[in-house]
Amino acid sequence: MRMELRVCKHCYEGEHGNPEKTAVTRDMVNCAERVREYKDLIGMDSLYITKVKEGEPGGSEALPAIVASIEDGQIQLSDTQLVMEDDDGNMLVYPEPEDVLEVLTRNIDQIQQHATEDVTVELSTESAELIS
Ligand SMILES: [Zn+2]
Repeated sequence: MRMELRVCKHCYEGEHGNPEKTAVTRDMVNCAERVREYKDLIGMDSLYITKVKEGEPGGSEALPAIVASIEDGQIQLSDTQLVMEDDDGNMLVYPEPEDVLEVLTRNIDQIQQHATEDVTVELSTESAELIS
């Protein structure tokens, strides 16, 4: 299995004036980094973390799937998503932040069952509320 987390680089760095999204974005990245550190324990092949800059929605992704929607007649590409590719090459895309956090924290729970040390990632109150 391969996984890619894509987030808005500007939200991650707190430059988009949305402190709530920044908190959630940083939690996603922290969780993904923890999963990547221990990916061998759960049989994951690769986990990529891509921080997307404004105006560059495509091109840098490791797994080529991007969520799009139409807003006011314009195509909007999602800047935050989790893509999973299973061993048969099927792609699953999670565009909702709560689903992204849910999938990542489930992976961490799975890792915890195999790890001797504490692998828990402390979540912000914003994220904790999203997945509660
Ligand atoms: Zn942003």
